[in-house]
Amino acid sequence: MGRIQKLPMSVVNRIAAGEVVERPASIVKELLENALDAAPTRIGVELEQGGVALVRVVDDGVGIEPADLPLAVAAHATSKLRSADDLERIETLGFRGEALASIGAVARLVIRSRTAGADGAMLEVDGGRVGDVVPHGGAVGTTVEVHQLFGNVPARRAFLRAAATEWAHAAEAFVRTALAHPGVALTLAHNGRRVHDLPASDSWLGRISALHGAGLAERLIPVEADDGEIAVHGFVGRPEDDMASTRLQHLFVAGRPFRDRSILHAVQEGYRGLLLSGRQPIVFLRFDLPADMVDVNVHPAKMEVRFREPSRLYRLVLSALRTKFLATDMTARMTPPAAAGPDAAGPGMRQVANSAGWAPAFAPPRPAGAPAVAEGLPLWEADADREQPGGPAPWPANASSAASAARSPATPAAVGERAVQMHDRYIVVESRDGIEVIDQHALHERLLYERLKASVAAGGLEVQSLLVPERVDLGPGEVAMLTEHAPTLARAGMRVEPFGGSTVIVTSKPALSGRTAAAAIIREVLDRLSAAAETASAGGMLVDEVLHGIACKAAIKAGDPLSQAEVDALVRDRRIVPDSHHCPHGRPTSLTFSRQELDRQFRRT
Ligand code: ADP
Ligand code: MG
Repeated sequence: MGRIQKLPMSVVNRIAAGEVVERPASIVKELLENALDAAPTRIGVELEQGGVALVRVVDDGVGIEPADLPLAVAAHATSKLRSADDLERIETLGFRGEALASIGAVARLVIRSRTAGADGAMLEVDGGRVGDVVPHGGAVGTTVEVHQLFGNVPARRAFLRAAATEWAHAAEAFVRTALAHPGVALTLAHNGRRVHDLPASDSWLGRISALHGAGLAERLIPVEADDGEIAVHGFVGRPEDDMASTRLQHLFVAGRPFRDRSILHAVQEGYRGLLLSGRQPIVFLRFDLPADMVDVNVHPAKMEVRFREPSRLYRLVLSALRTKFLATDMTARMTPPAAAGPDAAGPGMRQVANSAGWAPAFAPPRPAGAPAVAEGLPLWEADADREQPGGPAPWPANASSAASAARSPATPAAVGERAVQMHDRYIVVESRDGIEVIDQHALHERLLYERLKASVAAGGLEVQSLLVPERVDLGPGEVAMLTEHAPTLARAGMRVEPFGGSTVIVTSKPALSGRTAAAAIIREVLDRLSAAAETASAGGMLVDEVLHGIACKAAIKAGDPLSQAEVDALVRDRRIVPDSHHCPHGRPTSLTFSRQELDRQFRRT
């Protein structure tokens, strides 16, 4: 007898579950998709313990007939496809007929359902063993419960993270799906607490607003493009609302969220020169194209899709962003200077091109005799008497250096050091050993961060109480997260209180944050905290994340013209920071060109 055998179905399902069911978030996604395919008006999602103990999805859709229940949990059984041809024009979210069978193989699955025309029934599957269909009353629609995920597969259960982390992933899956279906009312609860209550909305922006807060939605920029066959439309964030993570980058096609590196690359391209490298824009984009131009059957968990002509989507996205950005005045602030290509620079310069991301910092040269310093407003002086009488300056915090610099604005920063701001983003310093090019944002961010950290450690963080508390509109999930982390924020000088609904008020912030809007800081901090939740960071690290977030948003930006006094103070203050050569993210804050290297390049030696 041969050694090859067909595997029993129970083993086949377990193997499939390895691809389809990774964690509670996968369950949320699959059950939500099933519910959405049943033409519901509302769906409720409840989780216990991050979804590991329970995921329950209740819909008021068409339901499943009792005779169909055993088929619903059988592998490769679906009501959504009849023939291979149907694969060419998939109009439902599901089609693989795998989800319920896979879930039933690795958890206890309970389905209760009733259609309009028949009596209701219930079916249970436990670790692959299918029970009997028993009568069950109830309203038209379906309730699916998944208990104790991987309870019978200890090896897989060991891979699950802390409940808080699983919950974060599950909530993320909910949000992504909810964004794709604004017309269906959706709720999400965790451990008995309602986290999202989303009314059906006929506008996409309405759903975005309900999920992420009116504050974010109001600031979004609508974009669209259409090449006659493929259309893209949606919303993108302003450059100054940039994020540390890709959490707010959402792509959709045919009602599905999907990931696509090429399209996100086009987005990055559209923002070129508007964002620092490593920073992420907010993106909500929806693609409409004929069904035969996209294949959704390329990924077991359907996270990715394949387009027939990906380059067309790339070009469309790029043009949608560029058209918009050229018509909006934000490019005026931060257009990178026209520069020769990287090849025009010698090898010594190429380092600059690489690390700064776009162009040699030395090009183009200023004409002789032209003023070397941008004639902008002196930042902190103007701020001090304009916005916050008596309020602290955004920087420098070191009052003595500010005062002395202001007294003699033209004095070089130190003996043998002349410093000049270039292109409103770099500071070039002459030193004894050569030339140093400083990234003004990176260095200032680093300085602020070190000062904040030192003051917190010494217990002497200077806090600015806000006479008029700042209101910040957030998404409900974000309010919950913020409330949870309120003590951590307070340690970093940010006092935040719930204000009802999805609004919070900020009553204090660190004096070092100057007049940076609380909303910008809160968003940045939330972004970092949610990224930290994924790695289950300890308390001390969370305070650090908050301080990073504050420093990042409060620091001067590329594009901010500085007075000579500010330039000098910045250059001088870098000495008080250990390793000022890197910003808190590890990007370089400065590049050095030694005299020796320059001499060598010019063949002087
Ligand atoms: P697929 O969604 O790919 O068809 P599933 O295993 O997820 O595969 O579901 C199997 C079948 O069970 C579906 O085709 C559908 O007919 C039925 N079903 C599952 N969930 C629901 C629901 N919430 N309402 C109505 N029918 C459902
Ligand atoms: Mg399905």
